[in-house]
Amino acid sequence: MTEYVDGPVPDGLTAELIHERHLSVLQRIEEAGGDPEEVSVLAVTKAFGLRVAELAVEAGLTSLGENYAQELEAKARAQSPTLAEVDWHFIGRLQRNKVKKLVGIVGVWESVDRQALVDEIARRDPGARILIQVNAEDEEGKGGCPISEAGALAAHALEHGLDVGGLMTVGPTDQGIDPTPGFRAVAALAGDLGLAERSMGMTADLEEAVAAGTTTIRVGRALFGPRKK
Ligand SMILES: *Cc1c(COP(=O)(O)O)cnc(C)c1O
Repeated sequence: MTEYVDGPVPDGLTAELIHERHLSVLQRIEEAGGDPEEVSVLAVTKAFGLRVAELAVEAGLTSLGENYAQELEAKARAQSPTLAEVDWHFIGRLQRNKVKKLVGIVGVWESVDRQALVDEIARRDPGARILIQVNAEDEEGKGGCPISEAGALAAHALEHGLDVGGLMTVGPTDQGIDPTPGFRAVAALAGDLGLAERSMGMTADLEEAVAAGTTTIRVGRALFGPRKK
């Protein structure tokens, strides 16, 4: 597990540099027609070491996103005082048997995409805040339920006492696909369901997400630089 804690820290990365890059992200939001005060920035620290998460907090970013259960667990259990107040969002594909280990760490479960996962979270973390992840383009190998199933899943989660904040989606991984229709469809669906949160847009497609009405962008590379493969 220490491999995650000791994971990479890009050369020259400082809290000041992250702060400057955060300001650039806010400028991108504004230039895309959004209000930087209204769009939250979730800093995605996956594949970076614990030190990068600490630098993000020192730069004023206190909502952090992680994709892998083991990696998040390792970082949270390292007991860094700097990370004590972090609001961790789980944004990756989630196996039901990993939920138990993440209870008490995760503040928002963003990648909830099937009933079995709703049931497990409701049982282990009653009343937890979740988002329903939607796979708007029905892309293969990607998390998220079809648009047609999101309403029923949200209703099921509400019935089981979960705090359903809204919807989350990941733009097309195929660079040839325009992300805008998917983002618009997810934003419209959130409106229809009366859900406020729309977590959509990453480093490569945040402008399209802002134009479509995102409430939270999830950015890693724009803040920390490229991830090592
Ligand atoms: C990695 C990841 C991000 C951040 O991607 P960047 O390209 O680094 O901005 C956001 N959301 C999810 C679900 C991710 O897996």
